[in-house]
Amino acid sequence: MTEEEIKNKLTTEEYEVLRKKGTEAPFSGKYYKETAKGTYNCKVCGNPLFSSGAKFDTSTPGLVGWPSFDEALPNAVKFLPDSSMGMERTEVVCANCGSHLGHLFDDREAKTGKHYCLNSVCLDLKKKE
Ligand SMILES: [Zn+2]
Repeated sequence: MTEEEIKNKLTTEEYEVLRKKGTEAPFSGKYYKETAKGTYNCKVCGNPLFSSGAKFDTSTPGLVGWPSFDEALPNAVKFLPDSSMGMERTEVVCANCGSHLGHLFDDREAKTGKHYCLNSVCLDLKKKE
């Protein structure tokens, strides 16, 4: 897919987050409270990224208000160093199309010790029947 095709497929907010590494406002996304079972796919390319089984509720300050996962599907995502906004963070991108998804943090509340803090607009939940 060309950048132009991706742009046409997404809303302005989705494009801003997925392709320009933006962040949706906390508590604004449609998935932060979602509990349905299924698979969360990449909004751009449909690559399966996270299982609903890895989603958890967080109370960690700064990470509340976005969908939280403790594990990605095998080989679904890639990690990039991100030193924007005066912080050293790990950016999470789709392994298939490189679109921005969110950031990875250490979190003792997470089962795996890792906390994927993602943007709802980057995800497309395919519910399991
Ligand atoms: Zn993708």
